[in-house]
Amino acid sequence: MSQTDTPTLLDSVTVPVEQGRAIPDAATRETIGYAPVHTVADLDAAIASARAAQPAWSALGHAQRSRILNSIADEIEANAEELAVLLSREQGKPLNGPNARFEVGACAVWTRDAADTVLEPEVVFEAEDSRAEIHYDALGVVGAIGPWNWPMMISVWQIAPSLRMGNTVVVKPSEYTPLSVLALVEIFNRHLPAGVLTAVSGDREVGAALAAHPGLDKIMFTGSTATGRRIVESSAHNLARLTLELGGNDAGIVLPGTDVAAIADDLFWGCFINTGQTCAALKRLYVHDSVYDEVVDTLAGMAAAVPMGGGLDEGNVLGPLQNEKQFEIVSRLVEDARARGARVVVGGEPATDLGPLFYRATVVADIEDGASLVDEEQFGPAIPVIKYTDLDDAVRRANASQQGLGASVWSSDPDEAVEVATRLQAGTVWINQHGALNPHIPFGGTKQSGYGQEFGVAGLKAVAAPKVISR
Ligand code: NAD
Repeated sequence: MSQTDTPTLLDSVTVPVEQGRAIPDAATRETIGYAPVHTVADLDAAIASARAAQPAWSALGHAQRSRILNSIADEIEANAEELAVLLSREQGKPLNGPNARFEVGACAVWTRDAADTVLEPEVVFEAEDSRAEIHYDALGVVGAIGPWNWPMMISVWQIAPSLRMGNTVVVKPSEYTPLSVLALVEIFNRHLPAGVLTAVSGDREVGAALAAHPGLDKIMFTGSTATGRRIVESSAHNLARLTLELGGNDAGIVLPGTDVAAIADDLFWGCFINTGQTCAALKRLYVHDSVYDEVVDTLAGMAAAVPMGGGLDEGNVLGPLQNEKQFEIVSRLVEDARARGARVVVGGEPATDLGPLFYRATVVADIEDGASLVDEEQFGPAIPVIKYTDLDDAVRRANASQQGLGASVWSSDPDEAVEVATRLQAGTVWINQHGALNPHIPFGGTKQSGYGQEFGVAGLKAVAAPKVISR
């Protein structure tokens, strides 16, 4: 409890030690609270409540649901600092930089956008004596399953449009970051009728049971490609509609003649946002040999200087890896690169002076496709920079991945950049930026990065049942 005895958000979402699972502070590894361990029986109850609440929620109509979602956005803003501190401790991302305060701010922005975006019936055919329209109805109950890297923001992307369209939602946060999402759901529930939004805080088994549940109409899933495949298999039984936002191994291409100083800041954050633990971060950078040394030296200089450490320290902008598994993946990939003879320009080792799961911001040069650090998703602060001489070859290598979430082209010539962008296989190709998202611009992957789009009108359609009315 706080000194004034008003329960904090953390108080309201933690359970007594004997009923819960200890959740560590990502930086210090000290326990910050105990998350409830819900079971498949709890999940059944949550789906039953969601089903019971759905008709009345849908009947409320768009205007009323929009008003409620806008009140929720206000409530997020009113509690922003408390949410950001909890997120920072549990996830590890610092308060400052494009991190915890930024993420909580985005939760309010995306909630408001889901409230205010308009999806009207569409006339698809009209003749003298006939007319067909598509209307968008609620689907029913949506299951929202999220990852640990941007736990609050990604949950909002799943929950807010679903609620707006008249669905009810059962959300299953990642077992690594349940408290952040439970706190967010607590904020939502200050304004929602009972049963409309329920959080089930369980492990992967509960996630699997949610995806396979016969009482479910849609799954919004963000996580790894491997889990995405299992969800597709489950959907063969319940025929739940799917939006799958899966892993990425995004390539960036720096063209000859690029003003490196002008792109340096955006290029660095494209790679290192959230300490590299971002689905649509830049994960393989192809640089023309005419600017290769300048790009490598610039990124290395920035990586050496960027403040990393505990998230509550206002000076830091990079944090730890969120969990041991991810720490081991990053360490393994960098070690493999070193063993192959690649040049670790900066970093390349754990920062044990900062805490057990910190890994120094790392730039690896003189590395080729075929190295695990290039071919696999590192999801951490280690960027491989690959030299190319022939642009067609760079495009071919960028497209050689089975994944296709994002990509980027970096150039001082906008027309040439757009021409290269048209040849890249990805759900989004950014120019002179990477990973910048906007609630009005649809976002989603191609190839094994998933299918379906989120945000804006496309995002509302993804959580709706299209119905043709024809006369
Ligand atoms: P993960 O797939 O291990 O877990 C994601 C969620 O799925 C967790 O809540 C987990 O409990 C649940 N889950 C596990 N097994 C399940 C099953 N069989 N059925 C249903 N649910 C199950 O992913 P993660 O490690 O939390 O996240 C990292 C991955 O997510 C990275 O690959 C990253 O690129 C990807 N990601 C993608 C996006 C995007 O928008 N495309 C955004 C963020 C993260």
